[in-house]
Order: sequence, then structure tokens, then C-alpha cells
Amino acid sequence: MPVGSIPGVPNIPPATYARFKATLPALWAIKQRAAKWQQARSAGVDMIVLHDTESLPHGNFDLCVKYFADPVAFGDKKKSIHYLIGRDNGEIVAMVPEDRQAYHVGDPYNDRSIGIEMYKKKIDHGDFTEWQYSAVAQLVCDIRLRWGLPQSAVTSHDALSVPKTDPRNFNWVSFEARVKALFLRLRLVDPSLNL
Ligand SMILES: [Zn+2]
Repeated sequence: MPVGSIPGVPNIPPATYARFKATLPALWAIKQRAAKWQQARSAGVDMIVLHDTESLPHGNFDLCVKYFADPVAFGDKKKSIHYLIGRDNGEIVAMVPEDRQAYHVGDPYNDRSIGIEMYKKKIDHGDFTEWQYSAVAQLVCDIRLRWGLPQSAVTSHDALSVPKTDPRNFNWVSFEARVKALFLRLRLVDPSLNL
């Protein structure tokens, strides 16, 4: 979980986190569902990789959660993700602990990255919801804080794997502005934060 103590993960003190609640409310609504495919890391994390689920087989968000829990049961390959963000309010599912690898990009990136999938179907025409922009900004802000990562550590699946196109039509300018605004607000709460 992003809130509180995570074994093997650098942490912000819980008392400081409690003061962040108003700025990062999405983190308190994260649900847990373990993904079958995961393994230990050989080192730390220096990348965050954003995805969307447009190319994956699923009929709704709940099925997509089940798919990432065990894609082989759906006739697909070994895949998994650290976080899956739904299209509607309150839907964030943590599926692989951050201090372990998820199977979301391939080698050598899985070993050093945290992956975030934003749920989307082809009929959504490349669109992401307001909730998704809000949630992914809060989640990225939290991960960057805990692992000490710059914004340049945040990248896309299509930047790492040529045949991939996700997250398609993602508005990076809006996303980065949101993350920056959140950091400014957190620094008002705790001026000692080195962001
Ligand atoms: Zn992807």
C-alpha cells in the first residue's frame, strides 16, 4: 500500500502522510488484489511506466482486475501490473507490491520500474477520464516522493517498446502540470520536503 509502512520501500513517516490526506485523497481508497505473476527485484526502482488497457481482452473493469490477477486463465500470457486505475471515481487496485517486479514491459525494464495501467476500451477512443488524470497524478506523486524520483523517471510503454502505442492520446502536459501542482501543495503542508 502507498499509505503507511511498506516493507522494502523507502517511506515518508506516517505522521507526515496523514497530513497529505487532503492533497492525495485517492491513496486512501486503494484496494488490493494480488497478481499471480510477480518476482523479487534485483535492485531498486528508477522508472515509472504508464500504460492503458486498450489492447487487452476485457469487458469491464472487474474482468480487467481478474485478468491481471491471472491472465493465463483468460488464455493470455504471463502479465501483471503494480496498479490498475479504473475510469470512475474510487477505482485503484494495487496488484503487485512495489518492491517486487510486475510483468508489464519486459526485460530489462520490469526489474527497475513500477507499472500503472489506466483502464480503457477501444470504444473509449483514446480518451482518459478526469478521475484517471487525478488518480494517476496522485499515485505518481506518491511513488516519486517515496522512491526519490524526478519527473523524468515517468515514461510510457510506447517509449520503451516499439510496437506498443499506449497510453494512447494521454495528455502528458496536463498530467505533468497536475503532478507539479500537487507537489507545490505538499510543500505547503511540509516545507522540509525536497521535491
Ligand atoms: Zn502497455
